[in-house]
Amino acid sequence: MILINENYLKLSSSYLFADIARRVQKIQSDNPDRDIIKLGIGDVTLPLPSVCIEALHRAVDELSDAATFRGYGPEQGYGFLREKIAAHDFQARGADVFADEIFISDGAKCDTGNIQELFSTSIRVALPDPVYPVYVDTNVMAGRTGSFSNGRYQGLVYLDSLPENDFIPDLPREQVDLIYLCYPNNPTGAGISKKELQKWVDYALHHKALILFDAAYEAFIRDPEMPHSIFEIPGAREIAVEFRSFSKTAGFTGTRCAYTVVPKDCKAYDRKGDKTSVQELWNRRHSTKFNGVSYPVQRAAEAVYTEEGQAQVRNNIDYYLNNAGIILKEMQNLGFVCSGGENSPYIWVQSGSDSWSLFDELLNKAGVVCTPGTGFGSCGEGFIRLSAFNSLENIQEAMQRIKGALS
Ligand SMILES: *Cc1c(COP(=O)(O)O)cnc(C)c1O
Repeated sequence: MILINENYLKLSSSYLFADIARRVQKIQSDNPDRDIIKLGIGDVTLPLPSVCIEALHRAVDELSDAATFRGYGPEQGYGFLREKIAAHDFQARGADVFADEIFISDGAKCDTGNIQELFSTSIRVALPDPVYPVYVDTNVMAGRTGSFSNGRYQGLVYLDSLPENDFIPDLPREQVDLIYLCYPNNPTGAGISKKELQKWVDYALHHKALILFDAAYEAFIRDPEMPHSIFEIPGAREIAVEFRSFSKTAGFTGTRCAYTVVPKDCKAYDRKGDKTSVQELWNRRHSTKFNGVSYPVQRAAEAVYTEEGQAQVRNNIDYYLNNAGIILKEMQNLGFVCSGGENSPYIWVQSGSDSWSLFDELLNKAGVVCTPGTGFGSCGEGFIRLSAFNSLENIQEAMQRIKGALS
């Protein structure tokens, strides 16, 4: 008899997006002419930078000629891309990261989801609340949790991220072995300082723990003091893995390209306490289970590192940051306490009531869709997330309507 992995039965089905869709559908069918503006989206809206499109075209043409055709590439990614990433994204910022520590992949979602399989099911896992749900669900699937009750899985250590701590959780009081951090954060929009991040690095060094640092929104950082990478922090090479993506940075959400940095100094332990290289384990996994990102897409990602590419990417991000600034200012003018909106495309708004009440009010009175904070964890109750991923015209119209409806 074919038995299932019963851990899958523990997954709390998130009805969030279905629930949002149902409420929007109802408004829409009651008022067919009403145009609804979506500020709940976690996907980019601007097209790919033109340098990326040109590189894609050129690479596709190379595949049409036997002399320049490429078949299977290196699973870890082509050297041309790995080297540019190491030089540009890390070494230029004073972070020691080398090309053979960079693993090109088809998504930070997949990598943050997959990496936990390198580690024992008996480890203690700590993750933020509110949280990017992939970190939680993949640990549930792997069997690291008990059942779901009162909004939380038994066996996980939740790191409360609240206004009281500026959305930077306190260090765990108990020993934890694997720690997920995400800055600039989705959904709270909060950033982290070098000083705060150093505390986590020191905790991990002291407890022989590993930090998984998700920097998917690194490109939104404009504060010159804020670290772009955990590898800007002394000691991090021994205890951290970092995830980056071209998705939010350069608009690759449909094109697919990301990378994970696993330094050679990064070690994990067997039951006897002997050290093993995490870089070697990840390399083994990656080359066994992954075939590499397609050649044209890696060429498109490479184009991001040209001078023109850098300017185009910065332009796109500035466009979203301008949107974010408008949302932040208008919501603050209406009396809402907000975080994010700077160094981040997300604005995390204290709803003053429960998340769904403000969601319904914005939808019914203003025709604007947001994301209720409860969808990201129990500490998300009492918040909504607004996203800057939309056109300037839609953002202005949405804020006009919210102002009219609430003031
Ligand atoms: C969007 C997002 C990612 C994802 O990226 P892909 O590379 O598109 O899989 C990773 N982490 C967070 C927190 C995100 O919001």
